[in-house]
Amino acid sequence: MDAKKIVIAIDGHSSTGKSTVAKQLAKALQYIYVDTGAMYRAVTLYAMRKGYIDELQFQQEALELDLSKINIKFEINDETGLAEVLLNGENVENEIRTLSVSKHVSKIAAVSNVRKKLVEQQHQMGIDKGIVMDGRDIGTVVFPKAELKLFMTATAKDRAERRYMELKEKGEDVTYEDVLKNVVDRDHIDSTRKDSPLRQAGDAIKIDNSNLTLQEQFEQILLLAKATIARA
Ligand code: C5P
Repeated sequence: MDAKKIVIAIDGHSSTGKSTVAKQLAKALQYIYVDTGAMYRAVTLYAMRKGYIDELQFQQEALELDLSKINIKFEINDETGLAEVLLNGENVENEIRTLSVSKHVSKIAAVSNVRKKLVEQQHQMGIDKGIVMDGRDIGTVVFPKAELKLFMTATAKDRAERRYMELKEKGEDVTYEDVLKNVVDRDHIDSTRKDSPLRQAGDAIKIDNSNLTLQEQFEQILLLAKATIARA
């Protein structure tokens, strides 16, 4: 008999490597991986392009009125085998990862109507299980009954260092201080918003990866996943 499929929810602070381990897990288990942060980032890019948000202002109502016109989908990149995000049919995978999108995304993600739209879509994606989904509210709101919930964290300094290296490698002109500030600001907004604040679900397993290599972390989490699947 085929092993039972489960839902794996990975939440945690910004830049804790949730998506790295989620991708590794999905590949090992042949599950679908969904990066919900990419969906909030795509809506943010839409708002930026429309001029609804910048350093000085945020026209929340204008964005809310446009929500029915915003279509977010994933498509598999045949070369990498990984899902990439489409905003109204356009592949925006690279653009959504820039620091300028990171600077606005938490404000956009605090809007209840934005969350409602994206959470509904996320629900649909997980209906057949066999999914690894990462974000901020997956174990608390999107899949409160997920069989395995992880909550990832690390010191802000470690997280900012990793993200800084990543952005530099991609050729972005950023400073470490800017990246650190963004990580801290996003955690603050994400944890204090009214709708679906970032918090550890009561039944989530906390993983502090400050002192873990990627391989050690993956091995620990894969063991947890396999044990959970065996019990399901
Ligand atoms: O995961 P990532 O860092 O790409 O997420 C970007 C932002 O999207 C987060 O800082 C948060 O504001 C928002 N987000 C969210 N709920 C999720 C996923 C992401 O509010 N499930």
